[in-house]
Amino acid sequence: MTIPYYYNSIDFEKLVREYEPPLEFIEGTWKWERDKIARVQLHRLKETLARGAQIPFFQKLWQKHDFHPDDVKSLDDMNKIPMYTIDDIRESIDRKPPFGDYQSYHFEDGKHTPLRFYTSGGTTGAPRPTIYSQWDREVGAILSARTFYLHGIRPGDVVMNSWAYSTHNAAWIMDHGLWHWLGCTAVTTGTGNVTPTEKQIEFLKTFGVTSILATSDYLLHIADTAQKMGYDIKHDFNINTLSAFGNTAPVKEAYGCPVYDSYAFHEVQYVAAECSAGQGLHIFEDAFIVEIVDFETGQPVPPGHRGNLVITALYKTGTQQIRYNIQDISAMYDYEQCSCGSWHRRIHYFQGRSDTMVKLRGINVWPEACGKIILEEPRVNGEYFCYVESVKPENKPERDEMTIMVESKSESSDFYQLQQDVAKLLKARVGVQINVEIYSPGSLRELTGHGVRAKLKRFEDRREL
Ligand SMILES: [Zn+2]
Repeated sequence: MTIPYYYNSIDFEKLVREYEPPLEFIEGTWKWERDKIARVQLHRLKETLARGAQIPFFQKLWQKHDFHPDDVKSLDDMNKIPMYTIDDIRESIDRKPPFGDYQSYHFEDGKHTPLRFYTSGGTTGAPRPTIYSQWDREVGAILSARTFYLHGIRPGDVVMNSWAYSTHNAAWIMDHGLWHWLGCTAVTTGTGNVTPTEKQIEFLKTFGVTSILATSDYLLHIADTAQKMGYDIKHDFNINTLSAFGNTAPVKEAYGCPVYDSYAFHEVQYVAAECSAGQGLHIFEDAFIVEIVDFETGQPVPPGHRGNLVITALYKTGTQQIRYNIQDISAMYDYEQCSCGSWHRRIHYFQGRSDTMVKLRGINVWPEACGKIILEEPRVNGEYFCYVESVKPENKPERDEMTIMVESKSESSDFYQLQQDVAKLLKARVGVQINVEIYSPGSLRELTGHGVRAKLKRFEDRREL
């Protein structure tokens, strides 16, 4: 019997040569010019397709669409590779429960190589499992460390990790990034469900925490709670930079320090990170090919046009993500050098999920977009919850209606007037009528999970199937 001891189970020299950790990355990969990026991407894409060809999930998908890896001769051929969505993953799990037929490794492979196992999406159906090889974990941790480095986190920093250390990958890969590749110590609190927010604030104070990892929503909740406890979040703590997820503007205002955005998801870990220029998120293009495609046709859309993100991970040895249409909405910047100096292509900030997108009288509307628009109204506090339902007005055909529930900043506002004004604002900006309901501050918490969930719930589909 042998045990695959961690320290010698992958070639670490090869790892850091191929996927540079923060310091080497900033001086190396970050400065690559377009032709070098494209060359590496094509080489790694071919390797990725060869790995995909070994996995039953892709064998079936590609056969169905009459695709063969040899069809890809250049990066212009990306569009020939069949896309898939979460529905295909769900089908795969139904076909071969509980792991699906998309895994490369199984638990018994733990005899030969250290593995990690996490699941996603357990709240909305069967959990979707991913088994990560050690190589995939280490590259994922390096991508996390690069992100934090771009966000101003430095060796010796004390970083409170307020993501959920639970069934999901996020908190763990961030933890490993700080620990293995950045020389930072994580203060592991988890979300408000595990460590009450008041207690997290005591941790910030007692242990001199210099940065926090959390969603923008939760960072705002921390600031709010600190204030209620009598602290001044700007001056009573040691926080000097924040690595967030989601709209950073209100967080910057609350903390008075730099706040950076990023984009990541379960299976592939960090994909893109904001730089100091603050104009979109740079894709780690040595590790990913990212495309934006039309919501309906699936065809690539030009830079600046909204569509679904389609991700191809180039670095993984375990499960492959090859043209995975993740149904997150964004848009691409053009191929141009950023003012930070990097040529790595940028995507716009995350704009919502297209699977919560609703077509109202021919116009695409999604909850996160409405949530952003209401922030322009100073009398609301930014909390919201959307639902969509089918209504049947008298003598008219049935139609879908969206309602946004909004919290007033103050109990004493004129709710009727506020409702009228927010409805008018949304109509002007979205181009279609959205119903508005105004609530007292704090009353949507039950619906959104504010203060306890890592990612807030913002949407409910109340239409009958
Ligand atoms: Zn930049």
